[in-house]
This record gives sequence, structure tokens and C-alpha cells, in this order.
Amino acid sequence: MNNDWDDLEEQARERIINNSPKCLNPFRITRVDDPTGRSDIDLVTTWGIACKCDNNIGQVLGYSLKDFNKSYNGPLQFVRPLHFECGKCGLVSLIIDEHGFNSEVAQIEGGIGSATYRGTGETSPFHCHMCEATSFEVMTSFIYSDGAFDLFVEAPELPPENFFDLFEARGKCIQCGKVNVIASFEG
Ligand SMILES: [Zn+2]
Ligand SMILES: [Zn+2]
Repeated sequence: MNNDWDDLEEQARERIINNSPKCLNPFRITRVDDPTGRSDIDLVTTWGIACKCDNNIGQVLGYSLKDFNKSYNGPLQFVRPLHFECGKCGLVSLIIDEHGFNSEVAQIEGGIGSATYRGTGETSPFHCHMCEATSFEVMTSFIYSDGAFDLFVEAPELPPENFFDLFEARGKCIQCGKVNVIASFEG
């Protein structure tokens, strides 16, 4: 019994490591080293994203957390949804919106989905915390906890890579090189 569980957990781990979540389908992706510092404890996958035209430099369009959470006092950070605007061909692609564990479960079972802030209306480009520039190389991290494994054991037909707990986006500034945390929220 225990062995079966270990087996399934290992299968889930393999699938998560080898497959990006479906929200990255609009992009060409490359695997990059974990920038989150969480991989000692949690399973983390991180993917660099590029436009279908192959260019990986562009703006990240979204909504400032400060506009939704008045008590937030930190550096500029965005809430969902996040978009990438290609600096070469101009294509705007959605990076993430209603994705991740809570959103997926809500779509299957009903319910409220993710409880985190969600922006609407006009977007603005994220700017570098150091130099204010708005062009970035973007990497996206997906952090998984036991929920994804438990679910896989119960329902192995569901792609476990879509059931991440936490999402983070970082942007390496093209002008000054600073790696900015663009977003960090629950899935
Ligand atoms: Zn493009
Ligand atoms: Zn900069």
C-alpha cells in the first residue's frame, strides 16, 4: 500500500518536472535554475518564456498589488492576470490568470477558485525596481506542495503540473541586469 503511494508520488514528481503547466502553452519555454530558494523544501519548476517568434525580451503587463491591497508597502508587484508583450513582434500573450491548484479544483468541483487579488481594466507595464526600465527576460516559477501529490494519487488522469500552489514571476532587467520579483501569489 505504502509502496503504491510512493510509486504514484514518484510518477507525479516526474510528470511535474517534465511538463510545464498549461498556462505556458502560448510560449516557447526553456528550463532555468530555481531562483526561488524554495527547492530544498518544495518541488519547484522554473521556465524562461519566449514569444512564439522566439524573442524572449518584452514587457510584462498587469496590475499593481498596491491598487488592490492598500496595506501593501513593498516594491512594485503585480497580481493576476499577467501578460507578456513581445518586444519584437508585439504579440501579447497571457502568462497566468485563473490557473493553479485552487483555480483548477474550482473548475472541477465548483467553488470560489483562487482567493488572491485579480486585476481588471487597463494594464500597465511592470518597471524595474532599480532603474525603471520596462524590458525584461521573464522566468516563471511553479511551486508544488503535497496537495498536488495527494490529488494525483486520487485522480492520476489529471495533469499534476497544473496543480501548483504558488506562482512567482521574475524579470531580469535588460537595462541594469537586476532580477525583479514581478509577482508572487497562490495558484
Ligand atoms: Zn514575438
Ligand atoms: Zn533595471
